[in-house]
Amino acid sequence: MKRLLFLLLLLGCATAIRAQHTLFGIERDGEAIRWSIPDSLLGRDMALTVSILQAPARTTPDYTKKYGHRGDLFGPVVVRFRKVNGEMWVTDPLYDRHLPAGSDDPIVRIARLRGDERLYGTLPVCAEADGRTTVDVDAWLKTNPLTSLSPVAFELQLGSEDASLTRIEDVSALPHCMLIRKRMTYAPLPFITPGSQADTHPGEWLLGICLSLLPEQPLPVRPSGKPYFGIRQQTFGLPASSPTSRSLMKRWRLELTPADSARYLRGERVEPVNPIVVYVDRHTPARWIPCIKASVNAWQEAFEQAGFKNAIRAEMEPANDPTFFNYDNSHAYISWKMSGETNAYGPTPCLARTGEVMACHIGIFSSVPDLLQRWYFAQCGATDSTARQIELPRETMDELMKLVFTHEIGHSLGLEHNFFASSLYSPEQLRDNDFLSRHGMGSSIMDYMRCNFILRPGDRTDLRNRIARIGEYDRWAIEYGYRIFPGETPEEQERNRQEWIERTSTDPAHWFIGGNDVQAQSEDLSNDHVAANTQAVENLKYLCAQPAAWTWNNLKELRIRQGRYRYLITTLRMRTDQVLQHLGGQRKASPEALPARENAAYNRKVMNYLQRYALTPPQWLFDPQLASSLQLDAQALAQTYCRETMQAVMNRLAPIDKAQSSGATDVYTSEEYVDGLHEALFGEWADARPVDSLKFEAQLAFIRQLDTQLHKNKLTSARVAATLSNEWLRLKREARTYARRMPAGKDRGQALELLNLLEQVTY
Ligand SMILES: [Zn+2]
Repeated sequence: MKRLLFLLLLLGCATAIRAQHTLFGIERDGEAIRWSIPDSLLGRDMALTVSILQAPARTTPDYTKKYGHRGDLFGPVVVRFRKVNGEMWVTDPLYDRHLPAGSDDPIVRIARLRGDERLYGTLPVCAEADGRTTVDVDAWLKTNPLTSLSPVAFELQLGSEDASLTRIEDVSALPHCMLIRKRMTYAPLPFITPGSQADTHPGEWLLGICLSLLPEQPLPVRPSGKPYFGIRQQTFGLPASSPTSRSLMKRWRLELTPADSARYLRGERVEPVNPIVVYVDRHTPARWIPCIKASVNAWQEAFEQAGFKNAIRAEMEPANDPTFFNYDNSHAYISWKMSGETNAYGPTPCLARTGEVMACHIGIFSSVPDLLQRWYFAQCGATDSTARQIELPRETMDELMKLVFTHEIGHSLGLEHNFFASSLYSPEQLRDNDFLSRHGMGSSIMDYMRCNFILRPGDRTDLRNRIARIGEYDRWAIEYGYRIFPGETPEEQERNRQEWIERTSTDPAHWFIGGNDVQAQSEDLSNDHVAANTQAVENLKYLCAQPAAWTWNNLKELRIRQGRYRYLITTLRMRTDQVLQHLGGQRKASPEALPARENAAYNRKVMNYLQRYALTPPQWLFDPQLASSLQLDAQALAQTYCRETMQAVMNRLAPIDKAQSSGATDVYTSEEYVDGLHEALFGEWADARPVDSLKFEAQLAFIRQLDTQLHKNKLTSARVAATLSNEWLRLKREARTYARRMPAGKDRGQALELLNLLEQVTY
């Protein structure tokens, strides 16, 4: 540890210490706390953060809450200390705008007339001597909102604070920061979750507050581009009479010494002055610690491509080091949270002055493995028989956990989702183990690309080729954000960077495409969604037919099997939604190209897919025998499936109509779409064939959706209204004929029930 470790822990007793090696000196006398602040630090930017060190006792924990767990960090807020008329002011330096230095533009001159600092509060000055000012801080630490949970009271569902119970437990100092432990008590909000049995007792929170000195020299800003999260600033002085806005990239401070800088620009890999060190919560289950470390370290290769050596690494949180505080906001931290939430998150808390990421606390919820085993079962269960075991092999779970951790760390490095990255390769390439070894399933871990669901039973692939990993885009994106470019001035460096971006952006593996584009969908795979999803559903069918995949011996195993079965239904719905996006959808041929409409031929393929896999609820999935062996109600599940599917199907009418009205040629029409739906759903009526009970559920759901659509206040267009009303009339006509043609019994009864429903539609 490079830092000087002069630590002062002052508890209770009357003490007065003048510290030359800590940020501020501390004096404590009973309740009274004073800080002796060097005048040299007045006016400097400092970052204030609040971390939860202990959450309150609750009898009714809300397992779906994202925040409110140990390890959560809020902030940073930037503050300054400034002496004004014998008082110490704590101020808020505003970084919401950028005024070009030296500009004489009249707009900039007017903008300069606004102040750029607000007052957070004042501290009484007790003494001034030897270039230091001593101030009373106990009242400020106890009562000001910045050192409390008030700014996040809504997220944490907090009621009023009981200030009489607030106490400062501990004040410490390190060379770069002040550390405060504080107990606060809040009443809960009793009614925030409807129907929940809210805890009515107040809850006590232990908070860790850190105030750290920021480097005098701000991080050079970079304009934010698509791969990165950004923050916005108003800017002035462009040829416009009103302010415009600019976006700054969120990124970490990776700096080089002057000597290393020269070596770096010669092409040598060098270590940054302050590498990114991510500390792993020492309470993390030992089972997952190597996976977390591997996931952090996996980003090293991307930084190597950007010219850095050892730029990022994971370390365990020291257990018995009195100089280590997990709420010291110079540390990045990954904490493990007990929760039913099957998720994780990688935030990018940053300084508003430049977008510099700091104090990053990544959260992992303990139920993530439950979701991962369901993903792997549904997506790779057909090709890997071990996926059907109750417990997945250790190495498989390791790879799956790394998939999640690596993605979240990518976010914390500043990277946004890139949902295009999974649409690069063909279904054939994604079944080729050699190809997968070279390229992976797609170009980025920042897509929602999970497991290789295109693989068929009998396909032989390595485990790493069945689960997404860091790809070519991720390495390029780290270069985009972190590579230092040559140049005497920041402007010249930026020009060189832009040239590099232009030169390297011709490769589709480096593309970022977002927005309304069929290729930029989450959870998809390959450049042919119909082919990929056809195989995916065939794999689900295969899984349902494997008796060994559904046996169970105890309640725990039953819950796992039930979860997997339900996830197959979710998967089937997801696959339908993906292909539906192509109807009336659009795509770009490159990130800069204008979007073009999907052609009618591919849309017809989508309709064939829908007819085969979506519009009729699959018997193989809603098999009463399979569902009842898992103590589930197949009919109820099928009803929900039909309702959701028909809703999604009907919702595509609007984009199809929009495409039709756009003037584009070769587009699929709403008339053809409704005809296709009719043929799939009511084909039996034309030649008087019986309708099975699952198909009847689909017909019922379709007619209910038809009713809803006809009564929507604003139908997309007169054309859609006419198409749907013609369909309504056709269904009434055909239902009557079918009922007449069928002998008395189930089929006639079903047709009459549908007819009755159609008669009730008043349009
Ligand atoms: Zn994400």
